[in-house]
Amino acid sequence: MLIVMRQDASPEQVQGVVHAVEAHGLKPHPIPGAQRTAIGITGNKGALELSVFEALPGVFEVIRVSHPYKLVSREVKPEDTLVSIGGVPIGGPLFVVVAGPCAVETLEQTVEVARRVKATGAHLLRGGAFKPRTSPYAFQGLGEAGLKILAQARAETGLPVITEAVDEASLELIEEYADAIQIGARNMQNFSLLKRAGRARKPVLLKRGLSATLEEFLMSAEYILAEGNYQVVLCERGVRTFSDFSRNTLDLCVVPAVKSLSHLPILVDPSHGTGRRDKVAPLSRASVAVGADGILIEVHNDPDRALSDGPQSLTPEMFEALFSEIRQIAPVLGRRL
Ligand code: PEP
Ligand code: MN
Repeated sequence: MLIVMRQDASPEQVQGVVHAVEAHGLKPHPIPGAQRTAIGITGNKGALELSVFEALPGVFEVIRVSHPYKLVSREVKPEDTLVSIGGVPIGGPLFVVVAGPCAVETLEQTVEVARRVKATGAHLLRGGAFKPRTSPYAFQGLGEAGLKILAQARAETGLPVITEAVDEASLELIEEYADAIQIGARNMQNFSLLKRAGRARKPVLLKRGLSATLEEFLMSAEYILAEGNYQVVLCERGVRTFSDFSRNTLDLCVVPAVKSLSHLPILVDPSHGTGRRDKVAPLSRASVAVGADGILIEVHNDPDRALSDGPQSLTPEMFEALFSEIRQIAPVLGRRL
């Protein structure tokens, strides 16, 4: 349910509605808009009479939200959401480029890649310290030592850091060290982790699950917002299909679909989406064209010796070439780099 306040409603009237919602045992989510404030309501399990709130001072109208996801929907918040990661705005005119290795391996490797992508123009640094791997025998990441390396790479380059949490313990550490928490494809429906991310003080990058429908993807984001964290960025990273010429099938169609249903920004990850270095640049170009708010690219200084995802990692030189193409394409679509 959504309570839309009158344009001239006073802050006291908004507070009055917030208290009335709480008095019914429900959770209010005030959403200030350009024109007026709206208050999303979650937690109503049964049928709630709209008239309970309609008569309150300052209320313009009370609307039932038709989608199962509420707070992430454009019905509740028509304006695009801007998410700030370490001061970098995502969801506005900036086409955001996140780059870095799949995994943090050593201080030298991470700082070298961070320096190179920063010199090229990347806005944010990525790198996994906790790696969700298919095989228990594969490199699992450096853990907290990896987070310290990322913090050092940030100190040396100024690039804010995004890194993945695989459970609640790693999330708590990431909250301390990094600028944004990534929830990976394999954890998109780890509901206790999503709820914990919803109570975090840092923005969340939520990747689409390997077989998640659009509705399931948005419902997972809803878990985070429902707990009070509205700083969520979505990320399309490819889904499983019968296509066997790429690691995953990058579903670029989901970008305009997300844009029409939700106010949240969405990035595209052509590295995991294709799994092949030679396919990353063409799909990155397509990501700008389809209206994504940015891309997430794996870059390694020595991809053939990378401890994870080497085949899909670009060299710093390839990343530079891609960046200059994006620099030309972005302005055609009203974006800047
Ligand atoms: C990653 O970003 O390195 C990663 C593991 O991604 P995904 O969860 O999309 O597989
Ligand atoms: Mn990876």
